[in-house]
Amino acid sequence: MLTRREFIRTAALFALAPHAFAEREKEIWVNDVHSQLNRTRVRELLRPHTRDELAEIVRSASRKGLPISVSGYRHSMGGQQFATDSICIDTRELDRVVSFDRERGLLEAEAGIQWPKLIRAYLDAEAGDTKQWGIAQKQTGADTFTLGGSLSSNVHGRGLRMKPLISNIESFTMITADGKPIRCSREENSELFRLAIGGYGIFGLIDTATLRLVPRQKLRRVVEIIRADDLPKRFEERIAQNFLFRSMKNHRTSFNAAYFPATNRSAQTKRSSPKKHYAMTTG
Ligand SMILES: Cc1cc2nc3c(=O)[nH]c(=O)nc-3n(C[C@H](O)[C@H](O)[C@H](O)COP(=O)(O)OP(=O)(O)OC[C@H]3O[C@@H](n4cnc5c(N)ncnc54)[C@H](O)[C@@H]3O)c2cc1C
Repeated sequence: MLTRREFIRTAALFALAPHAFAEREKEIWVNDVHSQLNRTRVRELLRPHTRDELAEIVRSASRKGLPISVSGYRHSMGGQQFATDSICIDTRELDRVVSFDRERGLLEAEAGIQWPKLIRAYLDAEAGDTKQWGIAQKQTGADTFTLGGSLSSNVHGRGLRMKPLISNIESFTMITADGKPIRCSREENSELFRLAIGGYGIFGLIDTATLRLVPRQKLRRVVEIIRADDLPKRFEERIAQNFLFRSMKNHRTSFNAAYFPATNRSAQTKRSSPKKHYAMTTG
């Protein structure tokens, strides 16, 4: 149920933008934040502040037969987050942590939350705890991805043996075309659960998602320069040795590869002849 305040604000979103549903008076353009190759004209750009507002926008657009598109931080470079002349929903104001079950390591947050805020929330909540939880993975190269955009793209991190993000999703709630929230998990609405993770927003709007956290552990960094030809074999070896993560930099014909095994050891550094491989380990 919408509270009176939320109803007024939602109504105002539309009242302030009558051209969303009538003749357009000005043109609104959106684009992705990286390539800037996806400039798209949208009918209206709306930023709901509450999940009820989000549902009300969907209901209103649905009644009027207007298409909806949904975006997070807009990092995707294929234009998946926009549709021409759609009601474009920007979810970034929906960024609250809803609950954190510290016994089971389950954290529920709104879809527009970005990784830094989500991580800060559990670190603050767990300060001083001996047993701590953390995310298993996130994308590399940037931090400002939203949970909804990550889930809808079923992203992966640098885990050597990890499955993509779906393996860390316990459940989510989704607003379907009739504006009703439904819960999806491996047990409830399981088909929709599988479709919407990696579904790029076409099955409905993710409202909140519950992440399965993993026990936090200390990692050791091992860096070595290897020939590109040796890379596949080295991967297999490191996976067999239970290394958890990797990162790589291409350096002409060789790769600078860093692997991260779990460790409780203190910091140490080793370096062999620079002409050969060198390895550096830090705790
Ligand atoms: C620098 C950089 C590094 C990257 N590194 C990686 C990486 O290491 N691994 C990886 O897998 N990917 C990587 N990516 C891709 C990135 O993970 C995806 O583009 C991700 O979707 C971006 O999140 P976003 O919040 O910007 O989502 P957006 O780009 O805004 O949206 C992505 C998709 O999700 C949908 N969506 C957004 N919010 C919702 C919602 N609430 N409900 C339903 N659908 C929604 C949109 O409609 C769209 O289809 C990288 C991208 C960049 C630019």
